[in-house]
Amino acid sequence: MIVLSGAALVLPDRVLSPGTLVIDEGRIIEIRPDTPSHHPSAFAFHGHYIVPGFIDVHVHGVDGVDSQDADVVHRGGAIAALAERLPRYGVTAFCPTTVACGPAALRDVLDQVRRAREAQAPRAARVLPAHLESNFINPEYGGAQPRTCLRSPRGASDAGRAGEAGGAGEAAGEFSGADILHEIERARPDVGIVTLAPELDGGLDLVRWLVARGHRVSLGHSGATYDEALAAIAAGACQATHLFNRMPPLGHRAPGLAGAVLQADEVVAEIICDGVHVHPSLVHTAIAAKHPGRVMAITDATAAAGLAIGAPASLGGQPITAGEFSALLPDGTIAGSIRTMDRTFQTLVGVVGVSLVDAAALCATTAARELGLVGHGVLAPGAVADLVVLDANFTVVQTYVAGQLVYSRNTPAAAPV
Ligand SMILES: [Zn+2]
Repeated sequence: MIVLSGAALVLPDRVLSPGTLVIDEGRIIEIRPDTPSHHPSAFAFHGHYIVPGFIDVHVHGVDGVDSQDADVVHRGGAIAALAERLPRYGVTAFCPTTVACGPAALRDVLDQVRRAREAQAPRAARVLPAHLESNFINPEYGGAQPRTCLRSPRGASDAGRAGEAGGAGEAAGEFSGADILHEIERARPDVGIVTLAPELDGGLDLVRWLVARGHRVSLGHSGATYDEALAAIAAGACQATHLFNRMPPLGHRAPGLAGAVLQADEVVAEIICDGVHVHPSLVHTAIAAKHPGRVMAITDATAAAGLAIGAPASLGGQPITAGEFSALLPDGTIAGSIRTMDRTFQTLVGVVGVSLVDAAALCATTAARELGLVGHGVLAPGAVADLVVLDANFTVVQTYVAGQLVYSRNTPAAAPV
């Protein structure tokens, strides 16, 4: 049994301060107003906050490790290495995220995701089904996605359904959209979210094909008009990828994809809350328009996150560097963020000005509910004890996964297992 006492507990509806939280066998068994505790395994955290463990549904990398890095020195590969590094930033569960790539590279990542999900590693964040920023995005809004890997959805799902994968000549970029869908089909339980542009030829058919197989379709890297976006939502799309980024700006006469996402309750919106990718004012506006229960704060972090400015890293095999405010391709294109979830929480509370309760919803609760993680994402009796202890500056002091201490600021990071 673990007793955490004295901290401000960020509950789903209020902050209990000071409060005591009791953990046993991986779950929170009691939450009560603070009382002096003499339990032998009690931690006293006066002046600290305890919040639900952060869930990042869009993260490519951190600390120099990219989800698609094939050369990571770790027996579990890059995904396992990420899972070990993310608790230092308060993350207890994450969707490993890829950029467009060939079928063999995709298969390798999804195999790693499957292995990590089959056997949850100790001292690591939970690995959730992957988020593919897929091959089926609009090149005009591609950002840092490798152009040579983008494909048309037209006909891909017909051939994918028949399992007509070609496979040859991938190194030369000779693969089809059907080859990608074949990999998605093959790894179905390990593919959670697929980002696509619905306005592409065959896009709506692909939305339906993916939704029918249980994947979450997220609209993004897209120039969809308002009507095209509504059609995709009607076809089953239920998420938006980094709202406002890599889509046309919100116009009062042409609301576009962003306007449709703000309006549609069926859609939960990711927003990069680093204060750079989206102006804090628009983060505030989006949260107000959709309610914190329909917004997920994400990092879109790359391997450059956690590194010194100027440090080299990679994103899906492309070289990037850590810039002052974001990751950059060699030509200066913004290539994802350098932000981590702990700093996202700091930005939401300190810059955007949301309440602690709303920040916890944005960083954990909404994602848990959307991904069907029952008993996760909240501090409540009976809930899974995935949680983070933050100091007065919202810096991570301890991270727990299933009641196990997986990161402590005061002890050296665990050596890779
Ligand atoms: Zn991304």
